[in-house]
Amino acid sequence: MSEKGKRKIIVIKGGNLIDGTGAKPKRNSVVVVEGRRIKAVGKEGEVKIPRKAKKTEIDASGKTVMPGLIDSHLHLIGLKTDRILEEELVRPPELGLIKSVYDAVDLLEAGFTTVKDCGGYGIYLKRAIAEGTMRGPRILSAGYVLSQTAGHGDVHFLPVEWVDARVSKRKKFLVMSLLCDGVPECIKAARYALRQGADFIKVMASGGVMSMIDRPEHTQFTLEELKAIVKEARHVDKFVTAHCQGTEAMKNCIKAGVKTIDHAFYPDDEVIRMAKKRGDVVFVPTLSINWRIVTGGVEAGYQPWAVAKGKEVWEIMIKNIARLYRAGLTIASATDFCGSPLLKHGDNAMELELLVKHCGFRPMDAIVAATRNGAKACGLENEIGTIEKGKLADVIIVDGDPLKDIKVLQDKNKVKMVMKEGKIEANRDT
Ligand SMILES: [Zn+2]
Repeated sequence: MSEKGKRKIIVIKGGNLIDGTGAKPKRNSVVVVEGRRIKAVGKEGEVKIPRKAKKTEIDASGKTVMPGLIDSHLHLIGLKTDRILEEELVRPPELGLIKSVYDAVDLLEAGFTTVKDCGGYGIYLKRAIAEGTMRGPRILSAGYVLSQTAGHGDVHFLPVEWVDARVSKRKKFLVMSLLCDGVPECIKAARYALRQGADFIKVMASGGVMSMIDRPEHTQFTLEELKAIVKEARHVDKFVTAHCQGTEAMKNCIKAGVKTIDHAFYPDDEVIRMAKKRGDVVFVPTLSINWRIVTGGVEAGYQPWAVAKGKEVWEIMIKNIARLYRAGLTIASATDFCGSPLLKHGDNAMELELLVKHCGFRPMDAIVAATRNGAKACGLENEIGTIEKGKLADVIIVDGDPLKDIKVLQDKNKVKMVMKEGKIEANRDT
C-alpha cells in the first residue's frame, strides 16, 4: 500500500497498553494507526483523534493492547510428524512446503506478526505473502544454512552429495545445508545463500542436540571462517545468526561480529564480559524445543541420542539463560519449532512462560524478549517491536493481562485481534 494518498485510520481505544519497551502499562490508552504506521500513542484525552469521517474505532476496554509477537528462531519446513529422519526420506519436499503455508497462517493467527526462519521455506513464503497469494507473518528467512563438513548441518549418515543443497536433488530441511570448509568456500556459500534470497546468513557455529555425531560444546567453523561470512553479510547490509551452544563457539561468534547467538547453552563469565563490551549481541535461547523434547520426545519418536542430549543440557541451560538475564544482556524469545505435532507452530508463546517459570524473568521482561528484543534479533528495531509513533503498526489485542498470567498469550481465542502493518489480519471479537 502506498504511504501517500488516502490512508485508512484505525483507532484502538480504552485498552491497557503494554508498549514493548518495558515501560509501565498505560490504562485507557489510545493508539492511532494511519496506513501502515502508528501515528500517535498515549492516554485517552491526551491523544488527538483524527476527525475523519471514515475511520474505524476498536474498543479494547478491559483488554491488553501490545505489539505483535516475534519468534526469533524457528523453522518453516512444514514437518508433519516427529519421526523426522523417516519423514525426510519418505515424504516429498513439496508436501513440507505446502504444510509450511498453513503453519505460517497459524503463527499469524496466534499473534505472531514477525518470525525469523533460521533455515527453511521462508525464503519462498515471504515472497508468496508479498505477492498477496497467502497470509502470514512478516518473515525473515535464512533459506539455506552454512555448516562445516561433519558439522551440525551435515547429515553425516547420508551421502554427502545428498546433503549440500547446491548438488542435492531433494530440497529438504535435513539437506538444506551449504557445506563449506575454509575461508574461500565459506565466502562462496554465503554468497550462494544470498543468491537464493536470504535476509540474513545462518551458520552452524557449534555442534548440537539433533545432530548425531557432535555435541553442543563442540566448536564448529574457525574464527577466520566466521569473520569471512560476517564480512559477506555486511557487504549487503545483512547480518549473521549463529546456532551456537558451546563456550568457545560463543567467543568466536562475538569476536567475529555475529549478531545473534542462538540457543546459547554454555556461556561463561568471559562470554558475558565480551558480550557486554560489544554491546549489540542478542542472545536467543530456545527453551521450548528442549522442554518439549525432554518431556515428550521419547513418546513422540525422537532418536534416543537426541533425547539424551536434550535432557543433559536442560538444567545447565536454564541456569545459564538466567545468568545472561541477570547480567542485563539482550535476550530475544524463540522456540526453534518446526511444525511437527510436538513442535507445533501456533504454540510459540509458550517460550514466554518458560522464561518466567525457569529463568526468573519478570513477565514484563518476557514480553520485551518477544517484542522489542525480537525486533533487535531481526535487525528491525527501528521499524517494529514496540508501539511507538512512527513504527509499523503490528498490534495485538489480548483478552486478559499477560503480566498477571503470561500463559494467556498461548490461548488463541484470547488473542482477539491481530494487526500487521496496519491491516487487521485476524479479528475474533465479532
Ligand atoms: Zn534451529
